Amino acid sequence: MYQPFTEEQLMIRDQVREFTRKEITPVAHKYDELNQHPTELINRMRKELGINGLTIPEELGGMGFGSVEQCLVTEEMSKGCLAIALCFGYTGLGMLPILKGASKEQAKKWLEGVISGETGISFCLSEPGAGSDVPGMSTRADKKGDKYIINGTKQWITGAGDAGAFTVFAYTEKSRGTRGVSCFYVPRNSPGLTVGKKEDKLGIRASGTHQVIFEDCEVPAENLIGKENMGFVYALHTLNASRPYVAAMGVGVCQAALDYSAKYAREREQFGAKIATFQAVQHMLADMSIMVEAGRELTIRAARMSDAGDPNLAKYSAIAKAYTSEAAVKCSTDAVQIFGGYGYTKEYPVEKLMRDSKILTIFEGTTQIQKNEIAAYVIKETAQKK
Ligand SMILES: Cc1cc2nc3c(=O)[nH]c(=O)nc-3n(C[C@H](O)[C@H](O)[C@H](O)COP(=O)(O)OP(=O)(O)OC[C@H]3O[C@@H](n4cnc5c(N)ncnc54)[C@H](O)[C@@H]3O)c2cc1C
Repeated sequence: MYQPFTEEQLMIRDQVREFTRKEITPVAHKYDELNQHPTELINRMRKELGINGLTIPEELGGMGFGSVEQCLVTEEMSKGCLAIALCFGYTGLGMLPILKGASKEQAKKWLEGVISGETGISFCLSEPGAGSDVPGMSTRADKKGDKYIINGTKQWITGAGDAGAFTVFAYTEKSRGTRGVSCFYVPRNSPGLTVGKKEDKLGIRASGTHQVIFEDCEVPAENLIGKENMGFVYALHTLNASRPYVAAMGVGVCQAALDYSAKYAREREQFGAKIATFQAVQHMLADMSIMVEAGRELTIRAARMSDAGDPNLAKYSAIAKAYTSEAAVKCSTDAVQIFGGYGYTKEYPVEKLMRDSKILTIFEGTTQIQKNEIAAYVIKETAQKK
């Protein structure tokens, strides 16, 4: 039988699958309705699942696994609830600049709390006036003696309500453009740091999204991650490495849409027959199945490229993210269609899937931005073929 994963990978996946089935899926609707971070559940996941340091190298005290294992775990959790997957997984994004840029000593110090489950880290790049246009950001960090003073506002920060620290991008030399951006590790209790109110969103409602405001926020100079003015490189590396995780979220949503729809179609009767016998319904199920399989292959390919340090990762992680996020919107919308009127109510899980799925086409670079990236590669590659 075709099996692309090792025994160990399957074991990690199945452990999270079982936890999701028992603990996440049953409370997904509740936390969506409450619009609330599931603090108790997340604390338990951090204690019981034993995967906090899954992708942190062993020399830093982590488990030393890679992007493939992270994708397997992320798909499983997202199948149960995308919002809860984000409440648990936001640190996977927030710690990437540290893994890329920090010295071994810095990384050890800052990731200790991640491994023990005490500290979540949020990623602070976007701003009210600069989302897709990252270089258009205006947050500054000015060096004063042995400190940096940060001023600016970060927007849409996932996990900010829960995080113990933030990786924050700011201009240290604005005149140098993207070569003048640096990245800082900023603990939550830093003077001058305020977390704003939680956004009231369409979907992923359990996952807190907040502004993070820096007003003369002081951080010690040693909290500069890696080298000064290298922040943009760390940001790009972070997004290329994390897009397979977002793609895995998309696969999880597609799979959940398919599972719910196939079950419902086998049970629901109209015109004296199960709706699963109608070809129009069958084709929606078939399309979902195609999207699950294609999306998973693209995701795992990008994850393997990430683990191998492949120089073309940016193209393939953008392809995986663009495909699976749009597929998640399509599959979850078709799931509502298969459920008919019932699908449009909160009595059934598919309307939440549909609301949750939309974010996948927006955060960590919109579908349009992924396509810009892919097109740039394609144009360069065809020029080289001449
Ligand atoms: C729930 C949520 C959680 C988030 N979490 C985080 C987080 O943890 N950390 C963080 O830093 N950010 C986070 N973000 C921010 C997210 O990455 C941005 O919202 C996203 O990059 C888009 O930026 P924007 O919202 O400013 O839209 P804009 O950049 O204003 O885009 C608006 C529209 O214009 C299109 N567009 C813009 N530029 C181009 C172009 N060059 N070519 C073609 N089309 C273009 C876009 O595709 C989009 O359709 C989050 C956002 C949300 C909503």
